[in-house]
Amino acid sequence: MPRTLITGGAGFLGSHLCDYLLNKGHEVICMDNLITGSLANIEHIKSKQFIFIKHNVTNFIDIDGPLDFILHFASPASPIDYLEFPIPTLKVGSLGTHNALGLAKKKKSVFLIASTSEVYGDPLVHPQTEDYWGNVNPVGPRGVYDEAKRFSEAITMAYHRYHKMNTKIVRIFNTYGPRMRINDGRAIPNFLKQALTGKELTAYGDGSQTRSFCYVSDLIEGIYRLLISNINDPVNIGNPVEMTIQQMAEKILQATKSHSKISYKPLPEDDPKVRQPNIDKAVKFLDWRPQVKLEEGLKATMEYFKCQLGIKSL
Ligand code: UDP
Repeated sequence: MPRTLITGGAGFLGSHLCDYLLNKGHEVICMDNLITGSLANIEHIKSKQFIFIKHNVTNFIDIDGPLDFILHFASPASPIDYLEFPIPTLKVGSLGTHNALGLAKKKKSVFLIASTSEVYGDPLVHPQTEDYWGNVNPVGPRGVYDEAKRFSEAITMAYHRYHKMNTKIVRIFNTYGPRMRINDGRAIPNFLKQALTGKELTAYGDGSQTRSFCYVSDLIEGIYRLLISNINDPVNIGNPVEMTIQQMAEKILQATKSHSKISYKPLPEDDPKVRQPNIDKAVKFLDWRPQVKLEEGLKATMEYFKCQLGIKSL
């Protein structure tokens, strides 16, 4: 039975990875300091093959026994979270990644780092291919996340090249689904909460900036395929269906049957104008492509948020 450590395992993506890997027969050690993760995301797990350890991976990590895989997912990931926790964000991406790599080296584990489309910054190449180096403002407010993730990619490749470790880098594009925090400030949770509670939907800027949204189960499948592949270079995992934020707000009004209006607020500093993954590499080497349609994914996410808000479904 493979034994796997997931840092950030009580977060949105981490908790879905815990479920997925337990299902594949792994023994899972879930580590989280719970600054943005929550025990509510893992309380349904009853498996004897699962343990939770409360720990901040910025500090030295020690685990008894063997570890076949380490998936490093600990980090604030929503723009409002990393603005609130700028220094923990920088530390978990740098010191935390160093600690997780050191543990992987000691245990001879396969190591996978959760990177991000933010490494492309406000991109000048569209759609984004893995060989694009990005356009990041290192000293802007988003720099704490972007540069931490760029550093984590650099140190992961250094451990791969210098220590000959088997490492993987997944560049995750916008993802949504159950267990996102309703107040995490991202577009889909904000719009769903606003639509379900009869408030105006707050589009930032003129709503013409684009994103491409992937449902969480598709993303997790892509990550697993990368984990067991022989690829060590970065791979984009995301849904290439691109839309404007205005279009997403309208989709959410439709899905919720809400009569709320859309209002326009200032665009946050350095907010990328476009974002769309080129997924040719994932298709070719992992035989992966997203399966879940936006309507289907939004419905499942809406049901989750209704439950969080105490709203009964009809
Ligand atoms: N956004 C918006 N209204 C909101 C929250 C976000 O218009 O209430 C915009 C945000 O400015 C960005 C896009 O939606 O252009 C996606 O933002 P999110 O925070 O979900 O993730 P990002 O892709 O910026 O990391």
